Amino acid sequence: MIITSTTPTKITPEIKAFCMEIDSTQTPIYIPVRPVPKAKMNECFGSVLNHISLHGGRIQYGWIIWEELQKRFLEAEFHAVWVSPSGEFVDIMPKIDKENTILFMPDSKRIYKGQLIENRRKLLVISDLILEWLWFGHNCHSIKEKHFENGKLNEIAANAELVQWMNFVKKNGVPIFSRSGSCPCGSGKKLKLCHGR
Ligand SMILES: [Zn+2]
Repeated sequence: MIITSTTPTKITPEIKAFCMEIDSTQTPIYIPVRPVPKAKMNECFGSVLNHISLHGGRIQYGWIIWEELQKRFLEAEFHAVWVSPSGEFVDIMPKIDKENTILFMPDSKRIYKGQLIENRRKLLVISDLILEWLWFGHNCHSIKEKHFENGKLNEIAANAELVQWMNFVKKNGVPIFSRSGSCPCGSGKKLKLCHGR
């Protein structure tokens, strides 16, 4: 399954609604990506704090909003950006796909305390493929969570279990999702009362 997400080209009503669910007191903003040489991939929180110790400013926690290319779902990834002493928001983390702008939704409450925070996902289209994607995303997170201790992921152990789990899925297939069955996001609610609404 190849699924690609990108920075949304505009803030649609669906994106606005998704952002309101995350934090009704904030609004999403486009922010430039200007990677700093010392920023370590996947370590935005430490990298921003390190950048502050050199250049001042402050940290802002929030979510990067991603839109799937075919607009079948939205995804929010917990993240931190740097706010310069003059108040400009900058994402100092390199992006795998060289994206130079992100859509960022500040979070007024949540801060990073060494925990693993699951992405938030909103389905815009309900199909077997997209439900499978939701299920896959949640299961990968659960496996990582098992191997996450003291703010660090044991990547070797997590990858080993991921491979084992994927082999199991290849052999046994993906569960069938029905509207009155449990939601593949793992909330324990029925699909029709959760992501299938
Ligand atoms: Zn759900």
